[in-house]
Amino acid sequence: MTATDRLLRTGPTATEAVVSEYRDRARPLAEQLAGKGFRDQWEALAGLGVLRLDPPEPDRAGDAPGPVTRSLAMVEGIGLAGVDPGVVYALASQVFGMQYPLRAVLPEEAWRSLAHLQEGRVLLCHALTERRGGSDPLSMDTRARRDGDGYVLDGAKTFITAAPVADLALVFARTEENRSPFALSAFLFPVDTPGVTRADAFAKTALPGVPMGELAFEGVRLTADHRIGAEGSGLAILSSTTTWERALLLGYALGPMRITLQRITTWASERDHFGRRMGASHQVAARVSDMALALHRSRSLLYAMAARLDAGTPTRRLSAEAALTKISVSEDYVRLTGHATALSGVRAFIADSELPADLHSPMAALTYAGPNDLLRVGVAREFGLPVEN
Ligand SMILES: Cc1cc2nc3c(=O)[nH]c(=O)nc-3n(C[C@H](O)[C@H](O)[C@H](O)COP(=O)(O)OP(=O)(O)OC[C@H]3O[C@@H](n4cnc5c(N)ncnc54)[C@H](O)[C@@H]3O)c2cc1C
Repeated sequence: MTATDRLLRTGPTATEAVVSEYRDRARPLAEQLAGKGFRDQWEALAGLGVLRLDPPEPDRAGDAPGPVTRSLAMVEGIGLAGVDPGVVYALASQVFGMQYPLRAVLPEEAWRSLAHLQEGRVLLCHALTERRGGSDPLSMDTRARRDGDGYVLDGAKTFITAAPVADLALVFARTEENRSPFALSAFLFPVDTPGVTRADAFAKTALPGVPMGELAFEGVRLTADHRIGAEGSGLAILSSTTTWERALLLGYALGPMRITLQRITTWASERDHFGRRMGASHQVAARVSDMALALHRSRSLLYAMAARLDAGTPTRRLSAEAALTKISVSEDYVRLTGHATALSGVRAFIADSELPADLHSPMAALTYAGPNDLLRVGVAREFGLPVEN
């Protein structure tokens, strides 16, 4: 165990053991899969069981992690193995941003019919954002018009992670023409339904390991079975998916953050500079400590959210905490990457150097799952300020 690993052991031993187990199981795959297509990587890693949702176990023995904590530890371990962060992001997005909230809102029989999602052969995407924007869902143009017992869907969703390769789409659409909290509904249907077209993938600079694209809907006929929850419950479902996402999606970043800290620590300990080791400078040491602080804070917050969800806390009571966690971890990811970039010098900007920096992916975390500026407004509103977006 490295000094970094020892310092960062924030969780119970059994949770840390899951992180190590998945790091060790994913490591050979990370090497075999480097350079392979997204779908191949996704399926191989899903084969480790990371998408499997264990049922809650109220009488867990000792310090055994609950199911959500275990999922987070698996995601962290896979990231720590050096798997492409885009693929780990996609796994975390499906398991936390879609599977857990869908299981919570769907009747048991409907969830059982989707249980195969956990095997990894079916890929989901979460389609909310439109060309005009994603932060204001009540301004969306995509409409599901009642037609007999079913609906006809028209519109388009864009900037959607995994849309170019997904099998199923969770799509939010307007079923009423106003800005009421009951104006939206959620639908889950196969992407190969007639009337759905996928545009080409965007050339994305952040998390390039997972494709992003657009879905257009033209007269797409959906049955009432494709609707998730009651008509008009779309915003409530969205609030559940986004709370889960804000609480835990950034678990994917823990691996890359830890790898970066380890690399920089080794670099600063071993490099001779100005006639001494680079790490003998107090300024260098302070940056390394700030990186460790960013990682320690992020791990503590993410695992605390997982524990709250394992304890059965309803997502409606977690929205402010989830937003604060997302703001803090994303900004710490940027901060840690900034310190690493400064300490790496020119090597940060050379793709095949020993210390290349990925600046885009941490910066993107400030935007997805709700831009931090807007999340701050929401948090202040929960504290009672009369502030609206
Ligand atoms: C890597 C990545 C993956 C993504 N994956 C998906 C996905 O799978 N599915 C999906 O639906 N979407 C996805 N998105 C899109 C994402 O959800 C949207 O980018 C996000 O909702 C913000 O919408 P926007 O980009 O239109 O930003 P905007 O809403 O235009 O906001 C941009 C900025 O404007 C400022 N701003 C605007 N209005 C206000 C205000 N009233 N108060 C304060 N500040 C304001 C803030 O600084 C804010 O950060 C992804 C984005 C990224 C980067």
